[in-house]
Amino acid sequence: MTIKDRRFPLSLSAVVDKSGKSHIEKKHSARIATPQTAMQNATKNTLIKTARQESPEQIFDRPMHSPMSKSVVVSSLQGSEGSRRAMVARVAQKGVKDRVVLAALDSIPRHLFIQSGLSSQAYIDASLPIGYHQTISQPYIVGRMIEIMRNEGVLGKVLEIGTGCGYQAAVLSLVAKEVYSIERIKALHELAKNNLRPMRIANIRLHYGDGMLGLLQVAPFDGIILAAAGLEVPQALLEQLVIGGRLIAPVGGKNQMLQLIERVSKNEWKNSVLEQCHFVPLHQGVI
Ligand code: SAH
Repeated sequence: MTIKDRRFPLSLSAVVDKSGKSHIEKKHSARIATPQTAMQNATKNTLIKTARQESPEQIFDRPMHSPMSKSVVVSSLQGSEGSRRAMVARVAQKGVKDRVVLAALDSIPRHLFIQSGLSSQAYIDASLPIGYHQTISQPYIVGRMIEIMRNEGVLGKVLEIGTGCGYQAAVLSLVAKEVYSIERIKALHELAKNNLRPMRIANIRLHYGDGMLGLLQVAPFDGIILAAAGLEVPQALLEQLVIGGRLIAPVGGKNQMLQLIERVSKNEWKNSVLEQCHFVPLHQGVI
């Protein structure tokens, strides 16, 4: 793939070759970001370099990740920075402490993921409709789930189930080295692509498919995050966690609880029930 051919966000085929191995897996020298670099990069997002002049190899070697185009970031900052700061302050007030996560929330222009008619509400701490009976998640819960999954550690490969409009994937791109996100509704998969394209984020791969199956060709993942609630967590996802990896998911029907599942060994997972939450349902298959 030439640099000219690169279309952001990249599809799965851009990173998985015919052998089913990812380019990243093949590279031995991929550096892992530290929380400190994530913090520095997220807070200084106007300085983040564009990926345009970089080869794929350079991108996978890059210690931190979100090469949003300067013009997108600068224009999105105008008029929205103050309200975004206030949104992050509310998220912190509600209990999210991880500074890397808060900095990432502060860096992503949420209003660019929301239909123009609702953009005045982009920085209230609430979920909002994105069409197809789905919602963009509440900023607090996005922050909380990523904080729990990150556990102040270094995140390499992360899988998100339920791309929706792509907002959480963009936040994740600032705290993990590689982000894979699956959406089952074709129109939303396309919406997320359109929303993310101008940001030119090089470490997100979007995939149209049933997230309940995970992404075997890229697994195992250091972290898995579900943006939709099932009555239980699909076994395939548990199997696609690295040992020591963390999965965070809303579980339940009408009454949902956030659950953290840690893979302790090959055949052992530890489950902690955390707090009440409210998500759209997890469904099987694609539409
Ligand atoms: N991550 C989004 C939230 C999207 S809402 C954000 O940034 O705010 C949850 C999404 O999960 C919906 O778009 C829904 O279509 C999707 N979803 C539900 N079941 C799914 C499945 N089995 N696989 C993939 N996506 C699924």
